[in-house]
Amino acid sequence: MHEVVRVEVDACSWCRKSADGLVVVGIYHSDSGPGWDILACSWCMRLHDLLPLDAHPKGSWCIPRHRDGTPAAIPSAEP
Ligand SMILES: [Zn+2]
Repeated sequence: MHEVVRVEVDACSWCRKSADGLVVVGIYHSDSGPGWDILACSWCMRLHDLLPLDAHPKGSWCIPRHRDGTPAAIPSAEP
């Protein structure tokens, strides 16, 4: 397994286009590293009804969640 190179330019993890009002909604965990933030723009927050990481219930494992508490599909980590 090779090293994951983190993209330093912040963009929405869902649409990958917008950096408007980015909010951390979860954390990617990798087997070999510390993981990294999953970001959502204000548009995708509304579109996917996402809960900010700050508002997650205990034991959410930093998995992105919808506002009703159900896990949200994590967008692909591939570029
Ligand atoms: Zn977006």
